[in-house]
Amino acid sequence: MTTPFLHTYARYPLELVQGEGRRVQDVEGRWYLDAICGIAVNALGHRHPRVQAAIHAQVDRLLHVSNLYHVDVQRRFAQTLTRMYGGGAVFLCNSGTEANESSVKLVRKYHWRRGDPRAEIIVLKDAFHGRTFMALSMTPRARYQEGFGPLAEGIRVAAHEDAAGMVSEKTAAVFVEPIQGEGGCRPVTVLPELREACDAHGALLVYDEIQCGLGRSGELLHEPRPDITSLAKALGGGLPLGATLASPKVAEAFQPGDHGSTFGGNPVACAAGLATLEIILEENLATRCATLGARLRMGLEAAGADVSGQGLMLGARTGMAPTPIIHRMRDRGVLVCPAGGDAVRFLPAFNSTEEEIDDMIAAFAGAWEDARSAPGSSAE
Ligand code: PLP
Repeated sequence: MTTPFLHTYARYPLELVQGEGRRVQDVEGRWYLDAICGIAVNALGHRHPRVQAAIHAQVDRLLHVSNLYHVDVQRRFAQTLTRMYGGGAVFLCNSGTEANESSVKLVRKYHWRRGDPRAEIIVLKDAFHGRTFMALSMTPRARYQEGFGPLAEGIRVAAHEDAAGMVSEKTAAVFVEPIQGEGGCRPVTVLPELREACDAHGALLVYDEIQCGLGRSGELLHEPRPDITSLAKALGGGLPLGATLASPKVAEAFQPGDHGSTFGGNPVACAAGLATLEIILEENLATRCATLGARLRMGLEAAGADVSGQGLMLGARTGMAPTPIIHRMRDRGVLVCPAGGDAVRFLPAFNSTEEEIDDMIAAFAGAWEDARSAPGSSAE
């Protein structure tokens, strides 16, 4: 089939036309339970009425004016976000990779303003921070980096258990996903050690909460507190929105002209983000993610999978390649995707029902059984 797109995506053979709640419909009219949510974006499912209403109201008022001016909905969104963060200030952009770019620039400017310029950024093995050049340089896997060199300088890659020991007076920051997403839904267990090492050497600790943040893991944001947090995905309620949240200590490092984005903090995206954030906070959906996540984990484990992750961010390993299971789950009406190459990844909506979680488990168990017994199966 000829395609108008550059070949960056290996898409599933499925054309989707609409969404409603936790379900999406294909072009032939079949409905699927969406257990991947646009890769952790649709935290409240599809077309949440309050998010829809906020978007419609904003579309009828103002689409875009740039950051040359003040816009009420953008300010209210930023205030809600920084209140949730416990203070500090935010820079708004359009995606996860941009949020991380902004976070790196803030890190470097912070040290530079203190008269102690530092370049070194430590990242963890199996990290994924995005696809632009700096974010790609901080994503230490050949699969993503191959053929794009030269990459950015100053990045050091650490095994999780070695990272704290590598922090020195030269280190500008340690970047870490509290739960690695593309790296296989793996929680990083050395956050306290990293906090301590950064404090001891004047380095900054940055959390990339783009996939795991805002409640998905069962926690709104992770502890111990970092100096900077990158957010995106769920933040925009389905519209493109990213954020670099800075604690008061680093917030002054950016001055007018230091950074910017034409579309960053677009009013319609902010209206969707504000409604989404209010619902997550009002309905205490982080706790709901923890409860539903425990149910999902138990079901996947009962089916025999080796499960990693936290809350509603889980990877199920079966000892066989995930793709045949993913295809068979789709045939059974449930959409998932891989994580870290060898796991089936579940990223359901925060407001899923218990029955929907059980349907995901049943589809997984059935699809795994089918895949295992298929001729030529790679099952061990
Ligand atoms: N950081 C993490 C942890 C991610 O999971 C992703 C995307 O999957 C990104 C950064 C990049 O975000 P985006 O695709 O919005 O640029």
